[in-house]
Amino acid sequence: ESENAGIAAKSYAENNSAETIFTKIIRKEIPAKIIYEDDVCLAFNDVNPQAPVHFLLIPKTRIDCLSSSKETDAQLLGHLMYTAGQLGNSLCPKGFRLVINNGQEGCQSVYHLHLHILGGMQCGWPPV
Ligand code: C5P
Repeated sequence: ESENAGIAAKSYAENNSAETIFTKIIRKEIPAKIIYEDDVCLAFNDVNPQAPVHFLLIPKTRIDCLSSSKETDAQLLGHLMYTAGQLGNSLCPKGFRLVINNGQEGCQSVYHLHLHILGGMQCGWPPV
């Protein structure tokens, strides 16, 4: 088992049924560098950036992962995608990448849906 898979599995066990650290960020109980907020979502810089620009966009209502979202979440998911495009364009006008890690093999470690927005550099392809 790779180190990343181990971390993701451990985190899944710890976080899947409880609120996550992102709930505390939403409630402003722990600090984060917040770059955008509206009624339904919050964006903040990732504490362990993987690119010159790396921030997370999360819904204020917890959805644990993309694959557990419901059809009734479609408007919220659309709002997240639209907002990621607006924020990405304003901070990375030359381009950026969106990533959603989903589940253990997707290397998800925090079970509160989040979009990674990465930019400020030339991205490569393929991503893995
Ligand atoms: O997609 P995944 O679940 O692996 O990503 C979680 C992300 O949350 C990581 O990039 C990690 O650095 C970030 N994080 C954060 N602030 C925290 C805890 C985690 O930015 N307090």
